[in-house]
Formats: sequence, C-alpha cells, structure tokens
Amino acid sequence: MTKRRTIIKGLASVLPATALSASRPSDAQETTIGSGRDYFRELGLKPFINAAGAYSAYGGARMRPEVVSAMRYAATHKVKIRDLHDATGTRIASLVGSEAAMVTSGATAAIVLGTAACMTKGNESKMQQLPNTEGMPYKVIIQKKHRYTYDRALTVPGAKLVEVETEEDVRNAVNKKTAMMFFLKPTQEGDNISSARYRHLAKELGVPTFCDAATTTPPATNVIDGVNEGFDLICYSGGKGLRGPYSAGLLLGRRDLINYARRQGAPNDLSIGRGMKISAEEYLGMLVALETGLQISDADEIAWKQTRFNNIITAISGLAGVTVKTFVSAGHAKELYLD
Ligand SMILES: *Cc1c(COP(=O)(O)O)cnc(C)c1O
Repeated sequence: MTKRRTIIKGLASVLPATALSASRPSDAQETTIGSGRDYFRELGLKPFINAAGAYSAYGGARMRPEVVSAMRYAATHKVKIRDLHDATGTRIASLVGSEAAMVTSGATAAIVLGTAACMTKGNESKMQQLPNTEGMPYKVIIQKKHRYTYDRALTVPGAKLVEVETEEDVRNAVNKKTAMMFFLKPTQEGDNISSARYRHLAKELGVPTFCDAATTTPPATNVIDGVNEGFDLICYSGGKGLRGPYSAGLLLGRRDLINYARRQGAPNDLSIGRGMKISAEEYLGMLVALETGLQISDADEIAWKQTRFNNIITAISGLAGVTVKTFVSAGHAKELYLD
C-alpha cells in the first residue's frame, strides 16, 4: 500500500502539468461531439445500455472521454508508428514502474507476442520460422487450474502446454525445451502453487514467467501492484477495466523480452504478429486511458459510479412493484463497476 502511494505521488513529476490539472470532461459532454448522424440506427442496429460489464461481446467498457479526445487527436495528426510505439512504451513504463512496456492489440495479442518472445529471444531466423518450433524451446508450463479459454493464445506461435499441479511437477517438467512459465490471475478455482512460489521456482530454474492479469483492473493502480509482483512479463486488457480502446492492451516487463516481443509484431512485415496491428489512435488512447485512470482516486471512481447508480435508482424506484437495492457482485468485492 505504502509503495503504491509513493509511486502515485511520484506521478506528478512524470505527467505533464496540464494532464494533472485538467478537469474530467463528462461522458454527456463527449457524446455531443460528432456529426449528428445516428450511424447504428441507420444500419438498423438496436443500441443497448450495458449494465452487465466490460464483456468483449458487448464491445468492452465505455472509453473514458479523455481517451476519445486522444483518439480524435491521433486520427488527424501523423507521426511515424515506430516512434509512437517507442514513446508510448517509454511513458507507460515510467507510469507503472516497469522496466519496459508496449501497447498491444489486446491482452490476447500480448500473450501471443510474449510467448513468441520467450521462445525465440530475438533470433531473426527463429522468429520467421514460427509456428514451426524446430530448434527452439517451445513448452509452456501452466497450472491445471489455470487452464482457460484464452490459453489458446499461448499455442498460436507453436508452443505446447505442459500441465502441472505441484512444485514437484514443475521441477520434473522443466528442461531445455521449456520456454516460459505461465500464470493466470485471478482464477475461479485458486492456485495450487501461489504466485510467489511460482515466480521463486521459475527464477531458480531459469525460466521466464508470464502473467495474464487482463481483468484485474479497475482500479488502474492495480497495474502498478501487478508490475511490482515481479513477473518477467505481465499483460492487461485495455478495453475492460482500464476503459481504453476495445482493441488495445498492455505488455509490461523486462526490457529484453519486450524488445523481442516488439519485433514479433506490426509493423514488421515478416513477424507472426503482423496481423495484430495497432493504430495511432489505439497507441495514444491506451496511454491516456492508463494515465487518466492512475490520476483518479479509488474514492472518486466509486463516487462517479455511485452517481450513475443513483440515476438508475431514481429512474426506476417510483415504479409500482419495484424494490431497489444496490449490492456488489461476487468477484468484484473490491469494486463497484458498472459500464
Ligand atoms: C478478456 C480477457 C483476455 C483477452 O483480452 P483482450 O484484450 O480482449 O484480448 C485475456 N485474459 C483474460 C483473463 C480475460 O478476461
């Protein structure tokens, strides 16, 4: 906790003064920007109010107004994509205290690129032969309880999953063919091996670790805590609790591995990740989502959500037969998150 506060205080020296003093535009203000055309209705689509959560099938979270502004800016100003990738990576790393950082086209892409990085370690010919894994480590250790739908992404560069349950399993499984040890958080079923033990083992065995923490925000400060935990790589989804672009995400961690991961992705034409392209709007939108999220205190964020709940309560509580109660759903105990 103390560590986190110290880092947040330190942000003042990193962020431009304008960013810190800018007041938050309201969502209502933001929706008035536009051409006045109702594009979805023109297409015959039925709009809905998302009261379920930042699910991918529902288009993720509503972007922060600051993010929308940044994306509009990026849409009308040109810089070289590699320069933008460098600059946003450097800024994000300093915001969260990681050695290096890169914007990805979502957490899934971060998993693909991070795994490929651990398999090829920047060797150009190995990078180009993926998903053929001949002559390189290709096994990824994963706890049985951490198997989930997105682990498909680990296999995209050609990796094979090796399931473990105990620390002894890990020791028996790790050999020259091991590329990475994967960790998921949070899990519904818990861990057989804790995050701390898992990282300790990995260090002892000389294997890089990767953590999927895609959904562990809000608050955005959890990204700082996640980095502090000390995985070699950790990823986040940009379009969920961070309220950034739906198709963006973050890969954070060791400088060498981030450099390798970058070489596996766009705009490098021969890379396995060439299709996981990121637009200037997304680079900038992702940075501003993180920057804005880190400036907002947990209390302010909860108060903002409470205002929205109150609007709903006011609108429906007069209806005959309706009783209104607010509660925090299981799994979101730390958060009141409605978007
Ligand atoms: C949503 C999710 C992802 C994928 O995130 P994208 O940014 O949509 O690629 C990965 N891991 C977990 C745990 C998720 O919930």
